[in-house]
Amino acid sequence: MFRNTIMQVSEIFYSLQGEGFLAGVPSVFVRLAGCHLRCKWCDTKYAWDQTAGMHYSIEKIVQTVQQTQSKFVVITGGEPMINIDLPQLAKSLKAPGKHITIETAGIAFIPDLACDLMSISPKLSNSIPAEPELAAIHEDSRLDTAVLRELIDNYKYQLKFVVDSRADLLEIQQTIEEIGNVDTEKVMLMPQAATRDELLAKSPMVADMCKSTGFAFGQRLQLMLWNNKRGT
Ligand code: SF4
Repeated sequence: MFRNTIMQVSEIFYSLQGEGFLAGVPSVFVRLAGCHLRCKWCDTKYAWDQTAGMHYSIEKIVQTVQQTQSKFVVITGGEPMINIDLPQLAKSLKAPGKHITIETAGIAFIPDLACDLMSISPKLSNSIPAEPELAAIHEDSRLDTAVLRELIDNYKYQLKFVVDSRADLLEIQQTIEEIGNVDTEKVMLMPQAATRDELLAKSPMVADMCKSTGFAFGQRLQLMLWNNKRGT
């Protein structure tokens, strides 16, 4: 019955997972519309608006995903964890045996999701937007360590931190400390970049930070391979 639920979908496309421990794995991306965080360097601003994209029934989303034969599905956004229909969507995609990754900033907890990997990217102060009104909204909800702890306690997870400068490391370490119970082998640092050139420029700095801390270096294949072209 719930398969007729209508959701606002920014885009669905087949590509390689660009980030995280599954980087390089062919995957179908279901990008849901809506995110109020408005991060300064967000690379999917076109998905911020809750009305971005098109109406899809959950049944149509599943059919579209099934056309690719891919076992791996990434539900992303926007911020999928604020979508009230996410549990139904994840369950419907999981039913035909898919591996489900949910990409989130970790700002909301939903129990019992059909999720094989909770890919969490907690937002640091380097993501605060310049506009005062947006900054206030962003600061109000970008980081809730209690929510992050619930997510890592209840799901298989990875924690991806976006690094803009060396100064971010202290904040990352403090955040991990505040969350508590974090498996540091599941933490990765990714260069903040909007283009391939920026990625290459910042990668040595992040590589050094990884070597000094033991955190993994987080690839961003979508930049390396396609220079962040939409739908890739
Ligand atoms: S949480 Fe993600 S989708 Fe939302 S503004 Fe930040 S980077 Fe963009």
